[in-house]
Amino acid sequence: MDFSALTKKNIRSLRPYKAEEIPCTAKLDANESPYCIGSKLAADTLKKLNRYPDPDAKLLKAAIAKDLKVAKENIILGNGSDELIYYLIVTFGGPVLFPVPTFSMYGIISQALDEKFVGIPLDKDFDLDTDKMLAAVKKYRPRLIFLSSPNNPTGNCFSADRILKIIGASKGIVVVDEAYQPFSSEKGFLPLLGDYANLTIMRTLSKIGFAALRTGFMVADSGLIEEVNKVRLPFNLNSLSQTIALEAFKQKQAVGRAVRSIVSERDRMIDAMTEMNGVIPYPSEANFILFRVKNADLIYKKLLRSGVLVRNLSGTVKNALRVTVGTPDENNMFIKSLERASRRN
Ligand SMILES: *Cc1c(COP(=O)(O)O)cnc(C)c1O
Repeated sequence: MDFSALTKKNIRSLRPYKAEEIPCTAKLDANESPYCIGSKLAADTLKKLNRYPDPDAKLLKAAIAKDLKVAKENIILGNGSDELIYYLIVTFGGPVLFPVPTFSMYGIISQALDEKFVGIPLDKDFDLDTDKMLAAVKKYRPRLIFLSSPNNPTGNCFSADRILKIIGASKGIVVVDEAYQPFSSEKGFLPLLGDYANLTIMRTLSKIGFAALRTGFMVADSGLIEEVNKVRLPFNLNSLSQTIALEAFKQKQAVGRAVRSIVSERDRMIDAMTEMNGVIPYPSEANFILFRVKNADLIYKKLLRSGVLVRNLSGTVKNALRVTVGTPDENNMFIKSLERASRRN
């Protein structure tokens, strides 16, 4: 039966998030880490499957607080940072402002919650267009501004002084989404948290080897955390995720090694891609590379035929594809396939 007539109007034009599983040898489409940092899966947790999880995730929160040198009152955990984006928009509502292209969930969740949202194009270097952003802040008075830095899918960090200008001009909350911060050469915004009450930082374990856990967190003024906690579902982070996420902090060295290897592979891939005819890689501070080709749809198919799955972004950035940095073997396979595919064009 077709239920769409009953569906709220703002939901009808949405499409379910596509997460189809396309068979491939090298899965380089979803910005995951190629490295699984093993966990001696907490046997104690498995003995308590009949009990609800700790609603406050005390142990995990303490580990995060210690790692980031912030108080636990400044932290809220989410079932992935996606859930925290959802909670922020439920709590504070729109207008929601963000640059485009950027992470699609800011717009999708705003629409699902029937909140107004505005996307302001980035400048030609994929940096924030300060004039346009400040004009939009003035015009729409957004309650929430989302800045993904490093930005997905462009890979660059936004200029810190431009972000600061927007934080300064906004009466609303500015969320700096640092999902890719571990791969970046820049400092990030955590050190500035105390200076601006409306600054919020979002982080996730998903891109550094723990995507399966769905664990993200947000650091902000304790008053802001208190408001968002009003809408948080009581047991949003399950026990297994809480326990295994602790591993990410216990095994910091292994996580760090994996991150460093991804960064050096990323730079090697960019060098190789720069040499290729008709391929233009953009600089990246993340674990993926956005690159332009002459015919993105064709190259996407050719890569897939040789077993390499990347993300086709040609609907968002003209003739652009996004490749996630994999293991050295996967990256070699990608480089070889892209070389072959672009040569024949
Ligand atoms: C992947 C990604 C997220 C989502 O992270 P989860 O914690 O897996 O929900 C958030 N923001 C950006 C910019 C991302 O690319």
